[in-house]
Amino acid sequence: MPGLQPILIKQAECVLTGEGQIGPADILIENGLISAIGEVKEPPRNAIVVSGRSRLVAPGLVNAHWHSPMQLSHGTSDRMNHKVFMWENQVDTANRSQEEIYVSATIGCLQMLKTGTTSTIDHFPEQGFGIEDVETVVRAFSDCGMRAVVALRIFDGEYSDILPPPERMTDALREALNTGNSLAPRPMQESLDLVREAIARCDGAAGRIRIFPAPSNPMRCSDALLVACQQIADTHDTGVHCHLLETRTQAQLAQALYGKTMLEHMDAIGAYSGRWSNAHCNWVSDSDIAIMAKHQAIAVFNPESNLKIGSGVPPIPRLLAAGVPCALGADGVSTNDNLIMHDAMQLAAILHRPSEPDRKRWVTADQTLAMGTTGGARAMLEPNLGLLKPGAKADLVLYDLDESWWTPLNDPLQQLIFGERGGSVRTVIVDGCILVDGGKALTIDEPAIIAAARDILKSVQKRNTGVRAVADAVAALE
Ligand SMILES: [Zn+2]
Repeated sequence: MPGLQPILIKQAECVLTGEGQIGPADILIENGLISAIGEVKEPPRNAIVVSGRSRLVAPGLVNAHWHSPMQLSHGTSDRMNHKVFMWENQVDTANRSQEEIYVSATIGCLQMLKTGTTSTIDHFPEQGFGIEDVETVVRAFSDCGMRAVVALRIFDGEYSDILPPPERMTDALREALNTGNSLAPRPMQESLDLVREAIARCDGAAGRIRIFPAPSNPMRCSDALLVACQQIADTHDTGVHCHLLETRTQAQLAQALYGKTMLEHMDAIGAYSGRWSNAHCNWVSDSDIAIMAKHQAIAVFNPESNLKIGSGVPPIPRLLAAGVPCALGADGVSTNDNLIMHDAMQLAAILHRPSEPDRKRWVTADQTLAMGTTGGARAMLEPNLGLLKPGAKADLVLYDLDESWWTPLNDPLQQLIFGERGGSVRTVIVDGCILVDGGKALTIDEPAIIAAARDILKSVQKRNTGVRAVADAVAALE
């Protein structure tokens, strides 16, 4: 798709490059890359011209932790803690058809694109999926034009962190798990074969879609599986994505299982490196942070999700101060209810302020934008993404400066982080292609996809009665 036609953004009023602010400026895009920025005197004659009048141009945002199968679960999970939400979520996402997988991913892409997010890591599903499911979600990203990593969520152990401790296990729950456990462990070899097949068939699809191995959570995986993920990543030059220390229970379980912290253990067995991106990191110890900094592994914070289900507060300033590369995610919409990365950026910047009296230690707007752009790009193994400069990948967003929250334009960066909520996005370009124009999605039939999505959740819930019994039994104990 890239390079069909050059694009000239003419006289943008302001450009946030990620390294500073310039403007008015022209931006020329050719072959999916930014070829010039500043004054473009002789653009190619066949260039599509996009007016930059009253427009702020900024790098496209990266949602570095998302779950496409959850995308139909808006408004389902209020006042649920992590355990209850996790099982409720199984009722909503297990046993999906191909069409349901496609629609769920596409409607999420629609929401992201229309609010300025151009790339995502989809931690894709967890329940016994097959190669056709992977191909379907890849097709969704390919059709709508987004840049994406499909991170295959695998595990070969129990979800012990979301089951009650053995002494509190009830007969009702034991019985329900025998028939409706959508999270029954899968043999390691089966998962690894599937990941390798998915990489062979789909990695690099459309020139912008990657496949990563992605342990659901290291403590739900054998050591052999974790080491194998690291080896697959080294062999195929992929990243590895996972949940990490989202809840206090997980930190306690790691100590009980390994006699050390989760990352001390992974480092000791050779299953950790700078290829890993770790969603949440709410309960990392100082030693975990030192290991992340040593390897330059990436922390992906999801502050909205953490607050909604009460799982913790990500220690963002501590990780930044230690030199850990940091990124942001929306997480699934059952624990967030939207995919607006402007919300995640604002919260990441202000979350820690009440507990940090020294204002000079507060996260800056610059750091926040970097988390929402280059940090996420790093988690996707995209070193050439997230800045607006010649030679960079052309993923960018034009915001309408005539909207009230941009008026007057006092400080574009601060207003992008603290004022914008995605409502002034007018044009979105990914890989040198215009995907949103005048606020309208060009690659997604919006009315059709919304109509297709309307009844899926009810239908999925109806078929997952066995899973419902597990969710109810867990909820009764929490
Ligand atoms: Zn997650």
